[in-house]
Amino acid sequence: MRIGIYGGTFNPIHIGHTSLAQSLIEQRLVDEVWLMVSPQNPMKQPSADDYNHRVNMAIIATKGMPHVQVSDFERNLPLPSYTITTLNQLSLTYPQHQFTLIIGADNWQRFNHWYHADEIQRRYPILIYKRPGYDIDPQSLPPTINIVDTPLYDVSSTEIRNHKKLKMISPDVLKYIRTHHLYSY
Ligand code: ATP
Repeated sequence: MRIGIYGGTFNPIHIGHTSLAQSLIEQRLVDEVWLMVSPQNPMKQPSADDYNHRVNMAIIATKGMPHVQVSDFERNLPLPSYTITTLNQLSLTYPQHQFTLIIGADNWQRFNHWYHADEIQRRYPILIYKRPGYDIDPQSLPPTINIVDTPLYDVSSTEIRNHKKLKMISPDVLKYIRTHHLYSY
């Protein structure tokens, strides 16, 4: 199967994330999307301590999305989780699947700074989804890198953590956040 690897901290997961995954499935760009919950993003603050909560919320938010799986595969990989390590380990563990990296146009701008960016590009197809304010010229991309159109939702996890835009998360995730008093809720 063609598996799209969509990584993030998902702290917490919101409608922007789930709609994007669903759209890639509906456009048949991949057969499944695996939401790769990162214990620690090399470019963000460490947040490994709330890992189980972030995984649980992702599972709750994707209930009823049969082609979207939540993966904690990076739990057992060295920290920080570098994408190339994850992709190579996934390929070894699941030789029957082909892995495609899914990243936002915001991340594409910084992609050159990613650990072993060349190897990622050489070994794995990349799907770049559009983000407002980050235009990319498709002509500048090699054939294994494609830009995809997905619905755009104006929301970030930061806003949810700051008690804003609560309509942009699943009610069950909000319930989970309140039950566990996450983000001072
Ligand atoms: P934070 O506000 O904590 O920085 P975030 O909302 O950007 O978080 P991440 O966990 O970093 O969420 O999300 C993983 C990836 O999802 C990001 O690299 C980004 O490209 C993408 N993403 C974030 N928000 C949206 C959105 N509203 N629509 C589509 N993609 C999004």
